[in-house]
Amino acid sequence: MKLFSVFGISLTGKTTTIENVINELKKRRYSVGSVKEIHYEDFAIDKEGTNTYRHSQAGAELVTARGYNETDILYKERLSLQKILRNYSQDYVILEGVEKGNFPKIITAKESEEIEERLDDMVFAISGKVADEIDEYKEIPVINSITETERLVDLIEEKVFEKLPDFPADCCTACGFNCRELGKKILKGEAKRSDCVISDTNTKLYINSKEIDMVPFVQSILYNAVQGVVSEIDGYHKGVDIKIEIDKKNR
Ligand code: SF4
Repeated sequence: MKLFSVFGISLTGKTTTIENVINELKKRRYSVGSVKEIHYEDFAIDKEGTNTYRHSQAGAELVTARGYNETDILYKERLSLQKILRNYSQDYVILEGVEKGNFPKIITAKESEEIEERLDDMVFAISGKVADEIDEYKEIPVINSITETERLVDLIEEKVFEKLPDFPADCCTACGFNCRELGKKILKGEAKRSDCVISDTNTKLYINSKEIDMVPFVQSILYNAVQGVVSEIDGYHKGVDIKIEIDKKNR
């Protein structure tokens, strides 16, 4: 999954940019998912008085509304981005309004001052209304997402890489950097996505069919624990593939 964000203040053209990008990515036959961050404290789709609201008020931790054309799973909490993304398997996932994180970013703005306030090393393009005024800002291309959609998506194809882990700097530096530093280097063309050793691991953990990122230290604990138990069992020999499945229905 390749992940990037489009962010900027209200009415700068975020949603228009994302709409145009999704259309063009679909034309290029990619599957696309999106996540919209809502910066409004009282936001809730599930309103007081609805049947689903009554379910959650009665204590249901997870409530699903299943219609003929739409299924909405309602979590009564703010999920981390990591948890949300476990539900996605598309080629590209676009985050609207998410500013902080270890992924490439597009800023939308009306004027240069807004760009300056939000600029960081992961910004690879600028779009929105400011594209009517300038075509570059500090060597970052400013692209009109309506009239130059193909150019913007060419750049997305060139720059956006497979989702990187985002561990704290003291958890892992196996690639020689921390996760955020490696992200910046990939974007600048000074490193490759494959430099993250997590992708080369021979120990993987899936929870509900979704792969869980593990720093090398945790991989090593899991590997040694499983290896220690399995190596005592008949049929084991060095180099075998080991697969363990734990289905909660059987516990
Ligand atoms: S190897 Fe991967 S998980 Fe470890 S610091 Fe580098 S990018 Fe992060």
